[in-house]
Amino acid sequence: MKMRRKKIALTGIGILLLFLSFPIAFIVRTALSEDGHKLSVPSGYANDASELNLTKVDSVIDIAKSKDSLLLQIRSLVAYAKAKNKPISIAGAQHSMGGHTMFPDGIVLNMRPYDHIEFDSASNVLTIGSGARWEDAINYLDKFDKSIAVMQAFSTFSIGGSISVNGHGWQKDSPPVSSSVISFTLLKSDGEIVNCSRSENAELFRCVVGGYGLFGIILDVKLRVVDNENMSFTRYKLDAKDYLTYFKKYASGDRNAKLVFGRLNISDKEFLQNATLNVFRSTGKPLMRKPKHDAFKTTEVKRLVFRSSVDSEYGKRLRWDLETNLGEFTADANISRNEILNDDVSLIENKNLGSTDILQEYFIPERRFNRYVQQLKSVLPDSDIDLINITIRNVYQDEDSFMPYARENVFGFVFLFNQKKTRDQENAMRRLTQTLVRLAIENDGTYYLPYRLHVDRNTFRKIYPQADAFFALKDKYDPDGIFRNTFYAHYR
Ligand SMILES: Cc1cc2nc3c(=O)[nH]c(=O)nc-3n(C[C@H](O)[C@H](O)[C@H](O)COP(=O)(O)OP(=O)(O)OC[C@H]3O[C@@H](n4cnc5c(N)ncnc54)[C@H](O)[C@@H]3O)c2cc1C
Repeated sequence: MKMRRKKIALTGIGILLLFLSFPIAFIVRTALSEDGHKLSVPSGYANDASELNLTKVDSVIDIAKSKDSLLLQIRSLVAYAKAKNKPISIAGAQHSMGGHTMFPDGIVLNMRPYDHIEFDSASNVLTIGSGARWEDAINYLDKFDKSIAVMQAFSTFSIGGSISVNGHGWQKDSPPVSSSVISFTLLKSDGEIVNCSRSENAELFRCVVGGYGLFGIILDVKLRVVDNENMSFTRYKLDAKDYLTYFKKYASGDRNAKLVFGRLNISDKEFLQNATLNVFRSTGKPLMRKPKHDAFKTTEVKRLVFRSSVDSEYGKRLRWDLETNLGEFTADANISRNEILNDDVSLIENKNLGSTDILQEYFIPERRFNRYVQQLKSVLPDSDIDLINITIRNVYQDEDSFMPYARENVFGFVFLFNQKKTRDQENAMRRLTQTLVRLAIENDGTYYLPYRLHVDRNTFRKIYPQADAFFALKDKYDPDGIFRNTFYAHYR
């Protein structure tokens, strides 16, 4: 009897190993096929996360860490820029993808060293240097059981970069990042520092939020923060056409649901037919002080599963199955909000020199949601560009920026593509972007501006009719054009 049980157990293990051997071998193959590439930028040049914007610049200058030296430094830099006609481009973590942080023969001002942080528990306000990353803020706030109110899905970006694009993330029913910004100080092109808020220098506040570094240098930011909370996680598997119904029932309609994102299946077999809705809810339980703080951290296995989906239908199916059934997140009632928000972009890092990952995002109103998904089904497969991810978030209307992408309450469709570094693929990506922008226009939607510059000036103005007024304000606040970047040169 004992012997028989042992035999059955061994056969079971054998079958399991056989069953797992192919996917494991496939993932190992992915690891072996990587050449370990990491972006390195030669001295005298700048580049960004796209890896497609290598630009020869005059200089790359690190901003001083302390306010006193910083003021002297920037004032003399502005004088130099004016005298030599060399524009200053402001750079945070450089995850924008259209040369937003550089200009040919210009000066790149690296804001990252300016990263001081203080928290005032009486007013519940975080004051932070604009060069700090969200992960710095999260790690600091964690000690006070506080958390970030609104930020992007990854914590790798800088505070100044996020305000300048007015980013958004998984925070349910929330406007973009600016809704948590109380005020900031801005160093203008004339060297003066002013405080900007909704009541003080309000016009400048509106221009700087989502203003792509064209109006001055954001220095110290005051952010409203929220409590860090214990959360549970639930994933709903559904038919993509039922997304809104599920979203209303399990996300919008549930006051405990705080962080929410959706994902669409991108394998050819069930292309955009099924989806998941991923919901993190407050449990009301006390925060756990962790030995398990790292449980949700980036792991190489998660990254490899993700990378296995590049150029492979099998990899795409495997990733969908693994992520929907085993999950990136566990159904665990002891995850803190800070752990969920503190995800590094290296989770999806591409380590191959021959290709790069390109992000795009379109904001579509709810009334067009289903029609838009149907249209994507016919448009996306026509392209030679490899689609590797689509997530969905909801973003409430942005009432802060002069040039908002969330003109009303919308759903953000975030596309990640893998593009080979060839001329053909660059052209294919341009065509695809133009098709997707057209689709957004047809659906009363907008496209997001931090990405590649494949959209022409007229189409840009169709979606952002405030553009000319925005540039007129740019001239008012920066008459000598001290702050410029490639994004500005393209759309101006
Ligand atoms: C993998 C990936 C995932 C992403 N996910 C999201 C997401 O979930 N949600 C979302 O909304 N966006 C997302 N983005 C876009 C991202 O939020 C923006 O590119 C953002 O600008 C990144 O911040 P950064 O620090 O890298 O900014 P940078 O790229 O360094 O700069 C962006 C702009 O901000 C300006 N700027 C930077 N610092 C300052 C400052 N101190 N003062 C004035 N201007 C400044 C720059 O001049 C530039 O125009 C993603 C991008 C990538 C590559």
